[in-house]
Amino acid sequence: MQGEYKIIDHAYDVVVVGAGGAGLRGTLGMAAENLKTACITKVFPTRSHTVAAQGGVGAALNNMQDGDNWKFHMYDTIKGSDWLGDQDAIEYMCRNAIPAVIELEHMGVPFSRTDEGTIYQRPFGGHTIDFGKSMAKRACAAADRTGHAILHTLYQQCLKHQAEFFIEYFALDLIMEDGVCRGVIAWNLTDGTIHRFSAKMVVLATGGYGRAYFSCTSAHICTGDGNAMVLRAGIPLQDMEFIQFHPTGIYGSGCLITEGARGEGGYLTNSEGERFMERYAPVAKDLASRDVVSRAMTIEINEGRGVGAEKDHIYLHLEHLDPAVLHERLPGISETAKIFAGVDVTKDPIPVLPTVHYNMGGIPTNFHAEVISPTKEDPEHVVPGLMAIGEAACVSVHGANRLGTNSLLDLVVFGRAAALRAAEVVDRRREAKPFHSDIGKESLARFDKLRFANGSKRTSEIRLNLQKTMQKHCAVFRTEDLLSKGTQLVEDILGDLNDIQISDRSLIWNSDLIEALELQNLAPQAHVTIHSALNRKESRGAHAREDYPNRDDQNWMKHTVSHQDKTNVNFSYRPVHMYTLTSDVEVVPPQKRVY
Ligand SMILES: Cc1cc2nc3c(=O)[nH]c(=O)nc-3n(C[C@H](O)[C@H](O)[C@H](O)COP(=O)(O)OP(=O)(O)OC[C@H]3O[C@@H](n4cnc5c(N)ncnc54)[C@H](O)[C@@H]3O)c2cc1C
Repeated sequence: MQGEYKIIDHAYDVVVVGAGGAGLRGTLGMAAENLKTACITKVFPTRSHTVAAQGGVGAALNNMQDGDNWKFHMYDTIKGSDWLGDQDAIEYMCRNAIPAVIELEHMGVPFSRTDEGTIYQRPFGGHTIDFGKSMAKRACAAADRTGHAILHTLYQQCLKHQAEFFIEYFALDLIMEDGVCRGVIAWNLTDGTIHRFSAKMVVLATGGYGRAYFSCTSAHICTGDGNAMVLRAGIPLQDMEFIQFHPTGIYGSGCLITEGARGEGGYLTNSEGERFMERYAPVAKDLASRDVVSRAMTIEINEGRGVGAEKDHIYLHLEHLDPAVLHERLPGISETAKIFAGVDVTKDPIPVLPTVHYNMGGIPTNFHAEVISPTKEDPEHVVPGLMAIGEAACVSVHGANRLGTNSLLDLVVFGRAAALRAAEVVDRRREAKPFHSDIGKESLARFDKLRFANGSKRTSEIRLNLQKTMQKHCAVFRTEDLLSKGTQLVEDILGDLNDIQISDRSLIWNSDLIEALELQNLAPQAHVTIHSALNRKESRGAHAREDYPNRDDQNWMKHTVSHQDKTNVNFSYRPVHMYTLTSDVEVVPPQKRVY
């Protein structure tokens, strides 16, 4: 160890890492259950990526009186997942969606309103009535700033319940002892101290890892730190090959234009002015699920019908909509289009391109949010003391493809589920066992080594190489050849990490070191992702293999469980849960997925 570190110890019942929608809903629930709870976050809570969520949160409230019902929501989610979602967890989420959204309303989320004063709901991709017959209005929206409204409300509620926050603390690693999670170790970015948090339950709510790609809609902080902490602790990740490309990222910048824009009547055209989605999805058209629309757009571009000088993107039209609707329902994206594409949406179409948006894979959990590390004997083996929620987790309610609005929903439903479970399993009276002085030493050694790294490659250089490699080799369409070359390149990049150069050695607001730590987290996830994509020899949901164009339920209706061992990735599998929790609903058997 080259540096000296001041170490401070804390003891809590529960430590939540992450203050996005999932982390805050979890924290609020834990505090309300009288568990002594700390929430650690690397950015100020309301700067978490959840703040950027636009279009809505899904719940079959039936406020628009279209006959919606949570059972249709469940069916749509299973179909959207291309039958890789666990049906028990999906039942739990869709049934609980209704009270969860009403709860948000009662907490103070300023939802848009119908004329009757109820929560306004708009159509979204893949959401239907009567099992695919017509489009449902299910997305509960606060204009196109739903995540902003939810996140701020949850933060206020956490403060009200006196949860303790450790803001601008960067969690480095889990503290594990004999297969049990005992806490986390974190670096205080503002004063350079190192903190060891002892906890009876650690909840990872660290979000997705969109930044493994060059063009993505997610914030720069979305580096999947919790997923990487889990891999380093020897716990596997699940279904990492499933990356969602959102059809409408702004061409060039990647900023998101919500699916709600098509929900309000927007549509896509190619260079011939054709509304091509009618050919690919005759019923749902522009509101087919995201994987379907992204593939259709990519095919149009590949076949020479892209727009623009390079024929490399597609147009999204909103100019036919009433300017009053744009102003009231889509003010945020109107502004985004102006700033990032120079387009006045009331006059011209927006240039768009499929852009990385969401990670269906992550830390395997059950529907109580407990982390699963499957063994040969027990595919549902729970890791004591560890939970995961939100985009970091793979419950799995999204399976091979997430439906729009189901992530904000997942955050609040499973954030609450985690608190309910913790209230049952955490013994409030038990004294926390004090930490051995050596505990966390390995993690600190990793931190110290990076802080004093004196190699020849800059973080930004290695990161750009990683992002471009993933963008090219693990994109919307995949082949054996592209993927195997990509795995080799990502492995070279893992090697480059040993030759990294850090120029700032300080411990206070050292963004050079923060970015290097984030890259050390991103690279192993990219590695597991591309290996998992190479391994899965079928097409399902967002995973489209040109060399295996069909879904293969016989061999592949199973979750990929990937274990990382330095530069190797090994696979095992978990069965998809083809059962429901109650007799209110039946299992939806696999069908051909058409929209
Ligand atoms: C532009 C955009 C629009 C979207 N729109 C919608 C929508 O309309 N509807 C919908 O359902 N979904 C939408 N999504 C998806 C959804 O918003 C996200 O999946 C969801 O917000 C993720 O929430 P989270 O709580 O899991 O993580 P995040 O909100 O990403 O929060 C992660 C938290 O973890 C903390 N953290 C991470 N690493 C560390 C570390 N090392 N140490 C300490 N803290 C750490 C961060 O500080 C942060 O507080 C959208 C996503 C994007 C990018």
